[in-house]
Amino acid sequence: MAEDVKRMAELLKSGAAMISKSCPVCASPLFKVGKDIICPRCNRPVVIVGIAEDEQRALGGKILEMVESTILGKIGELNELMKAEGDPERLRALGETLSVWLSALEKLRKLSAESGA
Ligand SMILES: [Zn+2]
Repeated sequence: MAEDVKRMAELLKSGAAMISKSCPVCASPLFKVGKDIICPRCNRPVVIVGIAEDEQRALGGKILEMVESTILGKIGELNELMKAEGDPERLRALGETLSVWLSALEKLRKLSAESGA
């Protein structure tokens, strides 16, 4: 059995999980061991995940920004609807919707602050 295959088997046996990324050096599948990513062929930790996490965080921040602007737009639309609405029942429904959007906005801003975006 080749050394790297043996190591892969050992990694799997020890509870390591194969991840969808491959080693940038040898293109062998990578394994996640606790917080480390190990290449069984190079037999060393690989650091590509650190970069991927940064990218993911940046992307996450952009998505949160887009969601925030959507929510603000919807709140603006609701405001216009409420101004024009005279029926108490419809106003109540609009008010409830507004409250949903506002709490979504609150959660979103909290999330943005936590993720440092
Ligand atoms: Zn490798």
